[in-house]
Amino acid sequence: MTTETLIPLAYLVAAVTFILGLKGLSSPTTAVLGNRIAAAGMLIAVIATFFAHDVEPGSLPIILAGIAVGGIAGFAGARVVKMTAMPQMVALFNGAGGGAAALVALLEFARQQLFSDELELGPTLATLLALVIGSVSFSGSAIAFGKLQGIVTPRAFRYPGQQVVTGLLVAATVALAVVLLAAGFTGAIAADPLVIVAATAALALVFGVALVMPIGGADMPVVISLLNAYTGLAVAMAGFTLGNQLLIVAGTLVGASGTILTRLMSKAMNRSLANVLFGAFGAATSAGAVATAGDDGRSIRSIGAEDAAILLGYAQNVIVVPGYGMAVAQAQHNVRELADVLEAKGITVKYAIHPVAGRMPGHMNVLLAEANVPYDRLFDMEQINPEFPRTDVALVIGANDVTNPAARSNPGSPIYGMPILDVDKAQNVIVIKRSMKPGFAGIDNDLYLDPKTAMLFGDAKEAVGKVVAELKRAA
Ligand code: NAP
Repeated sequence: MTTETLIPLAYLVAAVTFILGLKGLSSPTTAVLGNRIAAAGMLIAVIATFFAHDVEPGSLPIILAGIAVGGIAGFAGARVVKMTAMPQMVALFNGAGGGAAALVALLEFARQQLFSDELELGPTLATLLALVIGSVSFSGSAIAFGKLQGIVTPRAFRYPGQQVVTGLLVAATVALAVVLLAAGFTGAIAADPLVIVAATAALALVFGVALVMPIGGADMPVVISLLNAYTGLAVAMAGFTLGNQLLIVAGTLVGASGTILTRLMSKAMNRSLANVLFGAFGAATSAGAVATAGDDGRSIRSIGAEDAAILLGYAQNVIVVPGYGMAVAQAQHNVRELADVLEAKGITVKYAIHPVAGRMPGHMNVLLAEANVPYDRLFDMEQINPEFPRTDVALVIGANDVTNPAARSNPGSPIYGMPILDVDKAQNVIVIKRSMKPGFAGIDNDLYLDPKTAMLFGDAKEAVGKVVAELKRAA
């Protein structure tokens, strides 16, 4: 077999591993294997690419140094970065992908200028799209990273006329791109096409910033997912530019999966993508008033760890509902210990996982897997909801919006229509959180005023730890 037949074959194998990898990522049981399969495919792809091009011996040290720097940074990141900081890490990786596609496009423009007088429409359009979309993804992801890391204000940054400015930026970018295309064919403009290329990239970078700045920090996972789709598109375009089929396949897969994920997340929050991008939802502050009694005189029932332990100890079945607060408190190991203690008493424990519990897709699954909670105890919303009415205790740990009955009953609520976990239908409800402050959506939760709800105030890790201690003491 010659290199000409081996390389497409290697690319085909790599493309298949990417698809198998994505399939594996769709379930917690197969996610690790899926990741490894895709990583092995990527290794095959990188090696094959070396043979696909006549790499000049002089460039080899630079390429190897790049692989070493990227490899070490990726390895160290995967080891050091905490699970709660994963959205930031994804934003960084995503930005790097978009930036790389834009750089390929930039270099390709420079190369074309050197080797030919005229630009061709098809490749030029693809290169231009890689440049623009890659730049938007790069700067947008950088802002998303900054917002999640607290370097840039996480609040929605808005100013009068902001949408007009953003619109003008888009119009100017498109106008420059058209000028560039026209210049390539007619040679009718005096300016150096490379200057126009650079100006187009600069405008696209500014547009990426303008797109993400007005969105609240808590909506960043949806934004990152969208930018991920952009990066995929940019990479696919770079694939057309370089004539590399694998880049086209890989980019298209990323673009499609990013789009599907964005849609799923928006749907699970019952919000349109336009609402995420242009609505002020994420701007809601959580420094809201501390309510202790409802308008209709209903009041909050607060209990201690001992009472919670008694309630749980007498139950036959318990459903744990984890949320963002469990992630913040890193309480997953204590939650697992609590389940162990309850199960040792013959109590059935299940976990109800809402699709957008936490701040990124699969947030709860990953944390609970880290604490070795068996996968078969985790139930999706559709599976577990019918079980709440026959459940003795629903134990809500740092979850808020995803349990708010207003989503079902109050058409005036901002989360009306969002599918929720039917926690309020359980016989008893224990909610562990630190205060009466609202969650991500910035709205009060009627569940806390329900007579069958008991509030156990405190940090999730500490509170669960105390309940475990009480249960062990009573045993
Ligand atoms: P949530 O509604 O934001 O509520 C989390 C609750 O955890 C807060 O009310 C907070 O109350 C409590 N908390 C924070 N730190 C805590 C600690 N150390 N110990 C105990 N409790 C603590 O979270 P959720 O119920 O998981 O809902 C997720 C929200 O995020 C939804 O509105 C969803 O639409 C949105 N979202 C999710 C995604 C995603 O992909 N998963 C993406 C974007 C947006 P206290 O301050 O009183 O403790």
